[in-house]
Amino acid sequence: MNQKHFQVVVVGSGFGGSLTAMIARRLGLSTALVERGRHPRFAIGESSTPLANLLLEEIATEYDLPSIHPLCKWGTWQQQLPQLACGLKRGFTFYHHEFGRTFRPDPEPRQELLVGASPRDEVADTHWYRPDFDHYLVQQAQALGVEYWDETVLDRAVAEPEGMRLTGTRHRGPMEISAEFVVYASGPRGFLSRALGLPEKTFDTMPPTQALYSHFRGVGPLPDYFSANGRTPPYPPEHAAVHHVFPGGWIWVLKFNNGITSAGVVAVDSLARDLDFKSGEAGWRRLLERLPSVSEIFPSSRAIIPFIHLPRLPFRSGAAAGPHWALLPSAAGFVDPLLSTGFALTLLGVKRVAGLLRSHRQKPSFPIQLQDYSELTLLELDTAAELVGALYATMDRFDLFRELSLLYFAAASFSEAARRLGKFQLANSFLLCRHPVFAGQFQRLCASARKAEATGEIDDLRQQIRAAMEPIDVAGLTDRSRHPWYPALAQDLLRNAPKLGASEPEIMTMLRNCGLILD
Ligand SMILES: Cc1cc2nc3c(=O)[nH]c(=O)nc-3n(C[C@H](O)[C@H](O)[C@H](O)COP(=O)(O)OP(=O)(O)OC[C@H]3O[C@@H](n4cnc5c(N)ncnc54)[C@H](O)[C@@H]3O)c2cc1C
Repeated sequence: MNQKHFQVVVVGSGFGGSLTAMIARRLGLSTALVERGRHPRFAIGESSTPLANLLLEEIATEYDLPSIHPLCKWGTWQQQLPQLACGLKRGFTFYHHEFGRTFRPDPEPRQELLVGASPRDEVADTHWYRPDFDHYLVQQAQALGVEYWDETVLDRAVAEPEGMRLTGTRHRGPMEISAEFVVYASGPRGFLSRALGLPEKTFDTMPPTQALYSHFRGVGPLPDYFSANGRTPPYPPEHAAVHHVFPGGWIWVLKFNNGITSAGVVAVDSLARDLDFKSGEAGWRRLLERLPSVSEIFPSSRAIIPFIHLPRLPFRSGAAAGPHWALLPSAAGFVDPLLSTGFALTLLGVKRVAGLLRSHRQKPSFPIQLQDYSELTLLELDTAAELVGALYATMDRFDLFRELSLLYFAAASFSEAARRLGKFQLANSFLLCRHPVFAGQFQRLCASARKAEATGEIDDLRQQIRAAMEPIDVAGLTDRSRHPWYPALAQDLLRNAPKLGASEPEIMTMLRNCGLILD
């Protein structure tokens, strides 16, 4: 029988689990990483954001993990780790569709939104091709002395006075592993939640949704008419996370540099049932028949793995930590892939769990920190659900959908800039959910958007969203003249330096240090 004791056991070797295990080793703790599958393997959740990449960089610096640094930007990734596939992400591209109609940009243009995240390819974000990305991280964890147990199926977790004992099978033989602290990084609805009997709740603000997705080869480019309004977009629209939004759902299209494209759909239950998502590829084809312009991208595409249907996407655990254990945010809840909130939430969680592991090393009992971790993790998930729920409610009113999306970009870019300036106290929570003023406004506006129906009400709400954004907008998102294309410009940060409590020279230094401007 495989039987061993560690100070820390991390369950699940996605990027969240591997990073946590690496940090635990860097803190000098004996660490095991337990995985039920085997790398390399497919995983969903692929598109990073400026905040996610910044958090990854912070982790790499704080815990001296040089092998992680190249992954924080497209340029360094291509120079130093070209063997790992990824995709170039310069921003977020949204197109709005009506069923049965070809997409036609109007002169305004009212059916699109492009938000630039980086000014140049070298410093751009990426789509992580998870079979390569996650495998690489597991190898780096092993190189640091993490003991890696793959093909391990856990069936029992027993709380003990000094820690936890996990039992199950490994390579078909019995195994037992005990730890002073267990980090659960297994993704949604995992084993520990079941073993500990944690209550599962839903988000009151989210509709029930389902997902259907695959990886494809042979996906074509966006038809020319998508950018036919005669202006030059802030970045090539497909070098982005491309969102095709329609009433009741949306499609993502993410292109990797190995010829593979990730694409899938999330839709509310009624639409998912109507299209019969359960039927897999047939459901996807039925959806494309209703979206003629999206269908033009996929005529000769072929799925290279079987379609995956998730019959229920949102979920939320009743607690995220307890004596001797913590769930990473991705194990504590999931809202939706819309706006790519998952990576940033997970990496914030990894950083905070690192703090818990430090506390554990000094003093094995630390209930206040565990409770704070649990409350903040769930509050951040609830906050993401408030916004995404409002976005689902407005998928048939794209003008309001667009405005609400900008609320996310405003909070995310403010947080990124504040952290880059070392002003962590200004942005210590996701979507500024503990901000003394913005948090309340955000909650109220999302609730109003979920209910607003009359045109006058919607116009008024749009004004209120702009007003709430103004004090934290450091990225030109409230500048009407740019609508609906928002480039990432250094001058916006310089102009808005006072909002960050910073001087122009401080902003210049920060921009130079992170390569956002060149000398
Ligand atoms: C359809 C969809 C699309 C998404 N798109 C995005 C996106 O574009 N951008 C974004 O930021 N986020 C996205 N997300 C969220 C993203 O997937 C997660 O935030 C991210 O994967 C979390 O990483 P992780 O390492 O914590 O967990 P995961 O990536 O879920 O990895 C969990 C690991 O644990 C293993 N495991 C599970 N159970 C056990 C067990 N009992 N014992 C041992 N091992 C176990 C699994 O095999 C896996 O290797 C998406 C999510 C979904 C569902």
